[in-house]
Amino acid sequence: MSTDLILILNAATFAADKHRQQRRKDVDASPYINHPLDLADILAREGGVEDAKVIAAALLHDTVEDTETTIEELEDRFGKRVAAIVAEVTDDQSLPSAERKRIQVMKASSNSPGAKLVKLSDKISNVRDLVTAPPAGWSMERKIEYFFWAKEVVEGIRGTNKQLEAAFDEAYSEGMIATCAR
Ligand code: NDP
Ligand code: ZN
Repeated sequence: MSTDLILILNAATFAADKHRQQRRKDVDASPYINHPLDLADILAREGGVEDAKVIAAALLHDTVEDTETTIEELEDRFGKRVAAIVAEVTDDQSLPSAERKRIQVMKASSNSPGAKLVKLSDKISNVRDLVTAPPAGWSMERKIEYFFWAKEVVEGIRGTNKQLEAAFDEAYSEGMIATCAR
């Protein structure tokens, strides 16, 4: 088996284990791992991304933010570059949410190419989820606020991957139309 495939399978297994107790915020409380898997799928199939370390980082992207995982642990298991990408897409949880969001917008353009790809797929996945399986109890205004913020982050990332940027634009427009029509 190729080393790329082994890396991706190991990352998927590790993330599934770390997120095993967590659920998404939708009414069905979907298993959390569906979301990192969605990012990997978006990158590979829609973005044509073939860099296994970027796919592995996408699978692991929420482990440090949302579980007990550390960057050192990721570095030991998956190597420096995968861990560095995850570190770049991990918000500082000690800061208030609004500040974390502001920093994401500010830093988007200076992220590494790998981190930009993971961010793009994350925003595509979340914006789509806001239409198909939104967080329970979110008002129309709150969803629109999220769309605007995600777009601001993506503006800082443009020039990274044409297909993914187009996929985000489509998800954003369709999401806005669907949300405002409700
Ligand atoms: P977030 O805005 O951070 O919640 C969105 C995040 O939840 C996503 O980025 C995603 O992160 C995760 N998520 C989990 N399930 C879903 C799903 N089904 N669909 C989409 N995303 C999902 O929430 P917070 O609770 O931290 O809210 C803080 C911010 O929200 C504040 O900055 C404030 O501005 C705003 N707010 C607005 C209100 C309003 O009514 N307008 C009310 C309260 C807060 P990941 O990819 O990491 O899983
Ligand atoms: Zn995410």
